[in-house]
Amino acid sequence: MAEWGKHLAGVEGLVLDISGVLYDSGGEGGGVPIPGSIEAVKKIKTSGLKLRFCTNETQATRDKFVGKLQHLGFDIGVDEVTAPAPAACRILKERNLRPHLLIHDDLIPEFADIDRANPNCVVVGDAADNFSYKNLNAAFQVLIGLENPVLISLGRGRYYKETDGLKLDVGAYMKALEYACDIQAEVVGKPAKMFFQSALKEMGIEPHQAIMIGDDIVNDVGGAQHCGMRALQVRTGKYRPCDEHHPEVKADGYVNNLAEAVDVILKQLHK
Ligand SMILES: [Mg+2]
Repeated sequence: MAEWGKHLAGVEGLVLDISGVLYDSGGEGGGVPIPGSIEAVKKIKTSGLKLRFCTNETQATRDKFVGKLQHLGFDIGVDEVTAPAPAACRILKERNLRPHLLIHDDLIPEFADIDRANPNCVVVGDAADNFSYKNLNAAFQVLIGLENPVLISLGRGRYYKETDGLKLDVGAYMKALEYACDIQAEVVGKPAKMFFQSALKEMGIEPHQAIMIGDDIVNDVGGAQHCGMRALQVRTGKYRPCDEHHPEVKADGYVNNLAEAVDVILKQLHK
């Protein structure tokens, strides 16, 4: 038994990252499930543990993204998913911010009821092919022209894994805009503490009662631990062996995949 598996008393819920934990995105059909993950989600749902999915995915609306996962075979509903775009929309409304959007075309419907005339902030997401010089420069020009530039970034990941390899993520472009304008972005999504807290609030549990499972050592594991949760890193998705010797973040445990994590957790809790 791995050391982490001996200290599971009091665990009431699991928070799962999606990309790299449930499936690898990309290619025909939008991705492939990671072996054992479909069954692992079913097991969690029948175990009595609370479950929440917490993703930084911003290449599609939450509805469309969840639809794709359902099509791949996952038992998952839109209301079980914490995602950056709906959280950003709440912030925009609260603060009367009108965004210039530098995001993926498929995410634009999430901002349908947000006033975007005469922008007073920039929202950047994982825009993929929309990260052209022209588009980055247009976002830069909005920011540099504001008295108090506000840059909201939907996550700050460095890279993610698709079926054909690692891909640059929003964090690299967020940093470019920060550098050019000498500002600090506000991150909505992992690793922001508020984002994890909103997922826990939906579950009705405290940080010490939850375990985060993700493939990103900094944004999933480090972010969750910073919020007071325990966190496991899976050796799937963007995982690289050097993550286990990360200079700043040490996971509470490392597991080969979600299926292994769930088996250990359920075995211990049902003792
Ligand atoms: Mg991931």
